Amino acid sequence: MIFAHDTEIALGSVVDLINTLTDTVDGLLTPGDLDEFITAQQFSGSRTHNDSELRSVRQLRTQMREIWMATEDEAVEQINFILRNARALPQLVKHDGLDYHIHATTPQAPLSERMAVEAAMALVDVIRSGERDRMRSCAAADCGAVLLDMSKNRSKRYCDTGNCANREHVRAYRQRQSSQKP
Ligand SMILES: [Zn+2]
Ligand SMILES: [Zn+2]
Repeated sequence: MIFAHDTEIALGSVVDLINTLTDTVDGLLTPGDLDEFITAQQFSGSRTHNDSELRSVRQLRTQMREIWMATEDEAVEQINFILRNARALPQLVKHDGLDYHIHATTPQAPLSERMAVEAAMALVDVIRSGERDRMRSCAAADCGAVLLDMSKNRSKRYCDTGNCANREHVRAYRQRQSSQKP
């Protein structure tokens, strides 16, 4: 295990959130899309199900992509801002059959704030463990997705959103084939 269990889950959620937006598809266009995402991620706590909730989660998505792609110092600045702004207060909690994990907001805080703080707390773990280089973007030429490399030898290069690894292998194979032709 590289990170604590709740950190890994939170980082997975950040990756999934960022990857709801691709060059061609926006998976968070309606409050219904957001409901689906939140259910899939098993986020607990209060909801408003309105447009402003959706808007603030979409803003968070943009911010998380910026943090993911930023230099370490820039990322730290934004992470600290999120924690300060939300007056994050880390507490160990148990709920819904989950063992002790960290909440740093109350269940009544707005959804986007709870998501932001959970992400920020996980990113704190990543950065202070010196594991920042596991936060990557997909190496496939036509893919803008991000990924978290949890492999032992830090060898993961392609995202899990589509078929990027396969596609790149086929492309490389075809390139070899065509360069061998007379
Ligand atoms: Zn929880
Ligand atoms: Zn990809």
